[in-house]
Amino acid sequence: MQRDKTKEQLIDFKNSQKTPDRLTTSHGCPLPDKLNSLTVGPRGPVLLQDVQLIDEMAHFDRERIPERVVHAKGAGAFGYFEVTHDITRYTKAKIFNEIGKRTPMAVRFSTVTGESGSGDTARDPRGFALKFYTEDGNWDMVGNNTPIFFIRDPVLFPSFVHCVKRNPATHMPDMDMFWDFNTLREESMHQLSFFFSDRGTPDGFRHMNGYGSHTYKLIDAQGKAVYCKFHFKTDQGIKNLSAQRAHQLLADDPNYALRDLYNAISNGNYPSWTMYIQVMTYEEAEKWRFNPFDLTKVWPHGEFPLIQVGRFTLDRNPKSYFGEVEQMAFSPSNLVPGIDVSPDKMLQARLFAYNDTHRHRLGANFSQIPVNCPYRTNARNYQRDGPMTVTDNQPLAPNYYPNSFSGPENCKCGENEPKFKVSGDVSRYNSADDDNYTQVSVFYRKVLSEEERRRLHENIASELVKAKDFLQERAIKNFNQVCPEYGRGVREALERAKQRANITTASAGSHL
Ligand code: NDP
Repeated sequence: MQRDKTKEQLIDFKNSQKTPDRLTTSHGCPLPDKLNSLTVGPRGPVLLQDVQLIDEMAHFDRERIPERVVHAKGAGAFGYFEVTHDITRYTKAKIFNEIGKRTPMAVRFSTVTGESGSGDTARDPRGFALKFYTEDGNWDMVGNNTPIFFIRDPVLFPSFVHCVKRNPATHMPDMDMFWDFNTLREESMHQLSFFFSDRGTPDGFRHMNGYGSHTYKLIDAQGKAVYCKFHFKTDQGIKNLSAQRAHQLLADDPNYALRDLYNAISNGNYPSWTMYIQVMTYEEAEKWRFNPFDLTKVWPHGEFPLIQVGRFTLDRNPKSYFGEVEQMAFSPSNLVPGIDVSPDKMLQARLFAYNDTHRHRLGANFSQIPVNCPYRTNARNYQRDGPMTVTDNQPLAPNYYPNSFSGPENCKCGENEPKFKVSGDVSRYNSADDDNYTQVSVFYRKVLSEEERRRLHENIASELVKAKDFLQERAIKNFNQVCPEYGRGVREALERAKQRANITTASAGSHL
C-alpha cells in the first residue's frame, strides 16, 4: 500500500540506526530491564526503591505544558529567508542589508479557535508566525492569514476570544456568544466578511498568504523612519477548500494541514512565500483619511503599492514536535534594530501579552530553549538564574550594571534612533464608530465576484441560523449597513438555511 511520508517516519528512523542505542534512566544510568517493575514476589506490591519506575511515572505526569489559549493546533517548519530586492533606503535591519543574503528561520502555522486536537480545516483565521534568526537577534513576525482583525482596542481581546471559545457553563461552542459579541462590535464586520469568505477555509497552510497585519515602523541608517506593513504571498497560489469539503475533512482527515505541509517538505517540494512591504510616510499618516494604526483596516494597494523584498522557503520539518513546535515562542516584541513598533493599540498590548504567556507556559527562561534561542548572536545581559536555567548562565561576568569589570555595554545601534512626538489628553477613547463599513463595502462590491458573494451569504447563514432570532436580526442590520445587497443576500440565505435546518447543538463545519 502506498503510504505518505508522515506514515514512514518510524521506518525512516529504523533504517537510520545501525543498532539500537543503549537504554538508560534520565540520568544516563544503563537499564537492564524496561519491561518489569521491581516487586515483592510475582504478584506485587511494588517497591518504593524502584527508582526506575518512579522516574518513568514522574516524568510522564509532567509531559504536558499548558495549551496555548489560542492557536493551540499548529504545524512548524524551518527554512531560510532570502533578500531579492533592496529596501535599505527604508531600513537598516541587517536581515535586509544585501541582495542574496539568507537568514535561517522558523515558522508556525495554526488555526486559532480550536484546541490542540481539533480539526485543521475548520473555518477560522490561520496564524502565520515567523521567526528570523538574524545576527542582531531574533525578529518575530507574528501574523495571520488576514491583513486585519476583528477588533481594534485590546481591552476587548479576552472577550473576543471568549466568544469564539466554549460556553463556560456548558463547555459547548455557542453561536449566541459569537454573534452577540460580534454584532455589538461593528468593527468586526471587515474581518467577519473575510472569515466567512472562501479564504476562511484555506487548503492547508501552503496555499494561503500571511500578513504582519499591524502597522510597524522601519528605520534607515540615518535614523529616518516610515510606517510599514508586511505581506507574505504564497508562491503556491491561493487555494481554498469549499465549505462542504472543509467540513468533510474535519471527520475524514482532521490533520489535513499538518500532513500536507510535512509531506510536501519531506518530498522536497519546498513551499515558499514572497515578501512585500507597504510604506507610508509620517506626513501621509498625519493626513490619511483612516487611522493608519487601526487593525481593522487595510492600506489599499492602489495608494500604498506593494514593494517586493524577498522570499522565504521551508525545507526542513521539525525533528521533535514538542521541542521545536509546541515550545516555539513568538512575540511581536522580538524586534531588531531597523524595525520598530507603531502606536497601534492592539500591537502595543501584544508586545506585553506574548512573552507573558511564554513565561506562564514555558517558564522564565523560555528564550534559552534551543528553538527560541537567538543562536546567531549571544544573549548577553544582567539576567541570571531562574527555573530551568540550561545555558552556562553567563558565567564569571558581573551580574549588575553599571560596573567596572567589563560587563556587557550598550551597543551603538541606539544612537540614530528617531524621536517621535506624542501628545494628547489621557482618556479612554471610544473607537467603536471609527468607520466600520467603507472598506468592507469595497471588499464586498469590488473584490468579490458574484459567485464568491453567494458563497459568503451561505457560509454566514449556516452559522447565523444557530443563533437566537434577535441576534440574526442584529447581524442582518449590520450587513445591511455594508450595503443592502449584502443584508438581503444573508437574509435570503438564512431563510433557506432555516428551511433546511435540522439544527443540532453540535457545531457543524467550524470550531464555533
Ligand atoms: P486591491 O484590489 O488592490 O486589493 C484587493 C485585495 O483583496 C487583493 O489584492 C487580495 O489581497 C485581496 N483579496 C482578494 N480576494 C479576497 C478574498 N476572497 N478574501 C480576502 N481578500 C481577498 O484593493 P485594495 O487594496 O484597495 O483593497 C480592497 C479591499 O480588499 C480592502 O478593503 C480589503 O477588504 C481587501 N483586501 C485588501 C488587502 C490589502 O492589503 N490592501 C489585503 C486583503 C484584502 P492579497 O493580494 O493580499 O491576496
